[in-house]
Amino acid sequence: MSNTILKVKNLTKNFYTASGVLSAVSNISFEIKTGETLGVVGESGCGKSTLGRAILRLHEPTSGEIYFDGTNITKLPPAEMKQLRNKMQIIFQDPYESLNPRMSVSQAIAAPLLIQKRYKSSQKHEINQKVLEMMDLVGLARRLVNSYPHELDGGRRQRIGIARALVLNPKFIVCDEPVSALDVSIQAQILNLMQDLQEQFGLTYMFITHDLSVVKHLSNKILVMYLGQMVELGTPSQIFENPLHPYTQALLSAIPVPDPNIPMKRVALTGEITSPINIGEGCRFAKRCLYAKEECSNVSPEIKKIEPGHLVMCHLFS
Ligand code: SF4
Repeated sequence: MSNTILKVKNLTKNFYTASGVLSAVSNISFEIKTGETLGVVGESGCGKSTLGRAILRLHEPTSGEIYFDGTNITKLPPAEMKQLRNKMQIIFQDPYESLNPRMSVSQAIAAPLLIQKRYKSSQKHEINQKVLEMMDLVGLARRLVNSYPHELDGGRRQRIGIARALVLNPKFIVCDEPVSALDVSIQAQILNLMQDLQEQFGLTYMFITHDLSVVKHLSNKILVMYLGQMVELGTPSQIFENPLHPYTQALLSAIPVPDPNIPMKRVALTGEITSPINIGEGCRFAKRCLYAKEECSNVSPEIKKIEPGHLVMCHLFS
């Protein structure tokens, strides 16, 4: 049986704004086993990227605990956190924004090696060899080594992002919408590449996306988020064949059916989205839920275990 590499307990991240407290991530707990993928799904603004960044301590958590490889890293000092960057990395959604336009492919891939002092800047030959090795690994032609981001298409830029995340040989990678900005044909290539690399290096992924169909085949578990909360967690078959939370059901109904003869049964989400600022008691989905009852507006539902590995936060299952 594989070991747990990441354990998150009651993680909360609030932002303090002029209008009040913005609840971006609220009391989320889960585990990921070594070599597995957790898909994190939800609409834009639901807090999934903040969750990924809080785990990497790019945002400081407000409360809760994060354990990586058995160590509590929640309050690790910056110097030790910098060391941990060797093992925990991130791939961003839009590589064009995350890459420095003034850095060539070679410089972008080499940067983490220099920051982490794996090589001295004088070791030009060794660095160059490592860059070329990474370019081969992610399928980037060596002739592009001195190119700049604006000279490359989205797929190639994302390959640089992947090479840069992998160059330190990490164990865990937060993949923050890594294919959302790409054409559909390129998306498949990048997803295949990421799966091959996971197999080759035993990587563990937290794969963030707004599109449930993207994570169906590559996740061992899927976590559904709504307005900062985990509303459902299960295996892909539990989520796709037996979705429990009304929000998960609505997300699933929005996935296009490839056969035009099969009518789509889309669950339209109407109603106002609850503001994440100064959020009160009650279910955060109540204003948009088809099944909302009186207690939903006043009493916050708790996470319930419905079957092994399948959790839901909804009064329908109280
Ligand atoms: Fe809908 Fe109530 Fe369940 Fe919230 S708790 S999802 S409002 S039924």
